[in-house]
Amino acid sequence: MKYKNSIQSKLPLAGTTIFTVMSKLATEHKAVNLSQGFPDFESSPELISLVNSYMKKGLNQYAPMQGIISLRERICEKMEKLYSAKYNPESEVTITAGGTQAIFTAITAMVHEGDEVIIFSPAYDCYSPAVELCGGRPVYVQLDYPKYLVNWERVRKLFNHRTRMIIINTPQNPTGTILTAQDISKLEQITRDTNIVVVSDEVYEHVLFDGYEHQSVARFPKLAERSFIVFSFGKTFHNTGWKTGYIIAPENLMAEFRKVHQFNVFSVNTPIQHALADFMKEEKNYSGIAGFYQKKRDFFASSLKNSKFQLLPSAGTYFQLLDYSKITQEKDTDFAIRLTKDFGVASIPISVFYQKNVESHALRFCFAKTEETLEKAAEILCRVK
Ligand code: GLN
Repeated sequence: MKYKNSIQSKLPLAGTTIFTVMSKLATEHKAVNLSQGFPDFESSPELISLVNSYMKKGLNQYAPMQGIISLRERICEKMEKLYSAKYNPESEVTITAGGTQAIFTAITAMVHEGDEVIIFSPAYDCYSPAVELCGGRPVYVQLDYPKYLVNWERVRKLFNHRTRMIIINTPQNPTGTILTAQDISKLEQITRDTNIVVVSDEVYEHVLFDGYEHQSVARFPKLAERSFIVFSFGKTFHNTGWKTGYIIAPENLMAEFRKVHQFNVFSVNTPIQHALADFMKEEKNYSGIAGFYQKKRDFFASSLKNSKFQLLPSAGTYFQLLDYSKITQEKDTDFAIRLTKDFGVASIPISVFYQKNVESHALRFCFAKTEETLEKAAEILCRVK
């Protein structure tokens, strides 16, 4: 069946996301799938039983639009404990259908036609389409291989009366880099006398390695006053398919967020929220995740020591970039496909996260996998010469 009239696409350049494309290719070729970021091991059985028990108790109807209050209270306790930040559970926290929805809704609530939004590049792929759908204009700041450091003076020079928002992401997907306290202070300083709103994507807040502490925007009160901060339960509790996350912002920003949220998803899965509220009471349920993933990162790295791939530093997230320039000079999109079809390991090419044509000879591999999966993938990668 085909719609007969002409369609003027609102996103003429958008195709299907690279995650969907590579996961499908991995399935078709029975490749080890280290492309799309999701764990191949189970979420806690205790958490799963909790969801089930709340379903059996009959908590199966709509949750409040903002999320259930007990979960919002647990979140505020955590924000205070970890980041010494005080948020009001009634008016400053909203439970969302994952991080992507939170980001989309925050952008939609804030960005007007003609507004400029500063986005780093490479960046996670959901930011700019949301800006464009609002009639906004993404303004890119390129982060250069291999360190991907932010030059804040370069960012400041882009500010003008149309600059409405800046989107940051720490730990960063796809590069695995993190912003330091100096970075966040600098952002606080350069935005001080502006109307710029910050969206801080912190979905990997618990996945930092080598003793680094997560520098949440929430730790910087002057910056937090202008910021939406986005978090994810799926990344923390190994259940990305539950699509549950949350967003935090000062009351006046959150009021605008909720105006859109209520007409978008309205509210999020009820039994899952009750289960998460119980599960979050125990700090150990989220505090051990950094060590857990650091072991996986190190296991994957040591299994690759005889390969021709070169490891880039991964300070956070569950992604490892591998430079393949000693193997081939082909385009990363071509090499990622060849690696999946001919060798049987799927990854994500980094160039798709840049806006302009950038030559990038690095692929992203997800190590949120069992040792068996990582071993199998590494064994294959060591054979690629
Ligand atoms: N966040 C996941 C990743 O980076 C992908 C989620 C998705 O497929 N949209 O791989």
